[in-house]
Amino acid sequence: MSIQQRLAKLNPRQQEAVRYIDGPCLVLAGAGSGKTSVITTKIAYLVQECGLNARRIAAVTFTNKAAREMKERVGQMLKGKEGHGLTVSTFHTLGLNIIRGELKALGYKPGFSLFDPEDAKALLRDLMNKDAQVDAEQINTVQHAISQWKNDLVLPGEALSHAADDDEQYAARVYEAYGRHLKAYNAVDFDDLILLPVVLLQRDPEALARWRRKIHYMLVDEYQDTNVSQYLLVKLLMGERATFTVVGDDDQSIYAWRGARPENLVTLGEDFPRLRVIKLEQNYRSTGTILRAANTLIANNPHVYDKTLWSEMGQGVPIRVVVNRHEEAEAERVASEILTRRIKERAEWRDFAVLYRGNFQARLLELKLQHYQIPYKLSGGTSFFSRGEIKDAMAYLRLLINPADDNAFLRIVNVPRREIGPGTLEQLANYATERGVSLFAACHEMGLEQVLSTRAVERLGRFTHFIDGVRRRMDQGDALAAIRDMLREMDYEAWLYQNASAPTIAERRMANVWTLIDQLEKSMHRDPEEITDSEDTETEGVEAAISRLVLRDILEQQAEEDDSDRVQLLTMHASKGLEFPHVYLMGLEEELLPHRNAIEAGTVEEERRLAYVGITRARQTLTLTLARQRKAYGELMDCTPSRFLDELPVDDLEWEGRADKEDPDKKQARGQDAIAGLRSLLG
Ligand code: ATP
Ligand code: MG
Repeated sequence: MSIQQRLAKLNPRQQEAVRYIDGPCLVLAGAGSGKTSVITTKIAYLVQECGLNARRIAAVTFTNKAAREMKERVGQMLKGKEGHGLTVSTFHTLGLNIIRGELKALGYKPGFSLFDPEDAKALLRDLMNKDAQVDAEQINTVQHAISQWKNDLVLPGEALSHAADDDEQYAARVYEAYGRHLKAYNAVDFDDLILLPVVLLQRDPEALARWRRKIHYMLVDEYQDTNVSQYLLVKLLMGERATFTVVGDDDQSIYAWRGARPENLVTLGEDFPRLRVIKLEQNYRSTGTILRAANTLIANNPHVYDKTLWSEMGQGVPIRVVVNRHEEAEAERVASEILTRRIKERAEWRDFAVLYRGNFQARLLELKLQHYQIPYKLSGGTSFFSRGEIKDAMAYLRLLINPADDNAFLRIVNVPRREIGPGTLEQLANYATERGVSLFAACHEMGLEQVLSTRAVERLGRFTHFIDGVRRRMDQGDALAAIRDMLREMDYEAWLYQNASAPTIAERRMANVWTLIDQLEKSMHRDPEEITDSEDTETEGVEAAISRLVLRDILEQQAEEDDSDRVQLLTMHASKGLEFPHVYLMGLEEELLPHRNAIEAGTVEEERRLAYVGITRARQTLTLTLARQRKAYGELMDCTPSRFLDELPVDDLEWEGRADKEDPDKKQARGQDAIAGLRSLLG
């Protein structure tokens, strides 16, 4: 299909949004109105009609899944080399690319590590424990404060001078030390992926010019969820030219808790007076019934911009509300229904999505799906390789095959505890940076005694000596036995017990570690008949086997790439921008949706937007489920149906399994509606 034919398929407003390339453009519209379609078509338009090199275009969105979907849609439009070098990614990946390209300007060494939130928390714990014993909640509070500062582009000095009370001042001081340590470790955290590029582009005109030459046109999806730093990144990159298109829907802003600023929609108009605002009103995704439910629900929120969405998809079937005895019955119901509906409705597994408020809700459902042998894909859950104990064990394995792996070194040098604190590591990292050697190698250097205390040098020496010993044993003979002995000798198990909230948890974690080692063994003795991508013989060295495990780890993290035919399980947050023929929304109960914290914090509006996002993912059918009883905080509790159910159009809902407890007021109201309807019919 040519680009002209593609354009012709869009409605006039969408076409306008695609064609307008001379200045900043904002498409503001409700769910399913084709905002993402505008972005993908516009990319093709820029390349095929305007002759812009795809390398000069960057399209960003929020989740990996959304980025992948967008890539796929664009991939179908651009042929051959046309799409080469095009950036379609998350904001964070774009930031990561900028950091990679600007390591020198940023003062980082190659091979820098990216700390995940767990790594970051461990560092904070060490830093904070220096002064006084702190608990997990205090660490979380400080971590959250630091994250907010970074998202709002507040640097440590500023945070310190603006601190309103002692607590904030303390957090600001930790923020400062945390930043220094990250730098010493040659590491960045998740929020740095946006913050560092912004700070760099602000203070380094040459770097700014480099990136402006590189990116000529930017497109941003889900703009309502950008935070201050992300907005500044776009603004800096685009500069005076302001050649960008952003699309968003203020009713779908669901990341306020992560620093998202829906006001950025308004700021945009102020910062770019030439901004062209285009509104879309036709929904191409959902049936009339689903759309009406979404519109009615969101009408309960105050609005910046009023929108009216309509659809030509027909009314469709009513929305089902299924009440279950308890949470297990709810999971059972969803799983067994999907099993039968797949056949009845001639659907595929992938046509079904089950959405929920929190990942924990997926556990029971997973069991039920497994029971019925229904293939499913869990997004954002904790996979085997993202478990803490597996990451620890992997870090040991990585360090054994590559002592220069600083990231692995940092992860386990003090796990189990070896009394090697952040201060020591900071000095060690500085020393290693100066010498241009790895942390592990630095431990062996004589000069270290000049910068560290004798005790610290001894402790580091004991650790490297231990690792060296294991390496020697691996070289000499039975590598697996050496690894198993290592785990026993350092008493990792005892450490797990000390750090788990219950012995059974520690037990399971240790079992996971042994499973990993078993897998390693299996992968060393492969079936010679098996088709593989390497030419290794049936027995390969432990090194090759470990690197294959590492690769699997990485692939596992990218497992979302997999588009095989499976039921999709995801949180409402993760479902943004996606669509499915059949959607189940689970747990429509007070305290769950809206979430208890939101009720307490008075942020129910954001929960309503979340429900709006969930509902508008559905194309043909929507099923809402709830339980009458649910285990919470170890106790079986009675649940109240979500207030959002009351906000949906009564006549579009079909209740199942509701005990005869209908609110008498509502019954009466419905009766009166019917009477009024009859009267008007009769004239
Ligand atoms: P969300 O707010 O949920 O992200 P959106 O506004 O980005 O939604 P899209 O995902 O772009 O909406 O489009 C929703 C559906 O409508 C898609 O299946 C898309 O292919 C289809 N669509 C978009 N525009 C048109 C059009 N002009 N004609 C027919 N179908 C369209
Ligand atoms: Mg979209």
